[in-house]
Amino acid sequence: MEDCIFCKIIKGQIPSYKIYEDDKVFAFLDINPLSEGHTLVLPKEHYVNVLDVPEDVYAHMGRVVKRIAEKIQQEYKPEGILINQNNGRRAGQEIDHIHVHIKPIYKDTETFQEASYRKKFEDEKMKRIQKELTLD
Ligand code: AMP
Ligand code: ZN
Repeated sequence: MEDCIFCKIIKGQIPSYKIYEDDKVFAFLDINPLSEGHTLVLPKEHYVNVLDVPEDVYAHMGRVVKRIAEKIQQEYKPEGILINQNNGRRAGQEIDHIHVHIKPIYKDTETFQEASYRKKFEDEKMKRIQKELTLD
């Protein structure tokens, strides 16, 4: 896509700290990392988000994410690894070329605590949601 910064990075028109590339997927260090090793994994073709990307491409991104997570663990021994993929502005997506974040969590890494915002739904509501979301 013409004016997509990540498409430009993939084409080499903008520099990046690349750590992986194959025929479908590209991965580089986040320019504004949460922690040492914060990496982005994305498809070479431009897809906006999880709804837009073909299932096989998303699955392949997942394989690469796992391999990079293992490499990070081996090299840096973080206490945890946070993997997230934002879809839409309200979900924190700033760049509209789908990408998975791999964020090593070290002793001193600040993490977003969503636990305090979690709810408790009644059984009836849980069952309704279960019914509505059960896949065929
Ligand atoms: P998101 O908010 O999920 O869309 O994440 C976008 C991410 O892209 C942010 O973490 C940015 O720090 C990162 N980012 C933006 N521009 C660049 C760039 N030129 N090279 C590497 N990472 C970038
Ligand atoms: Zn793009």
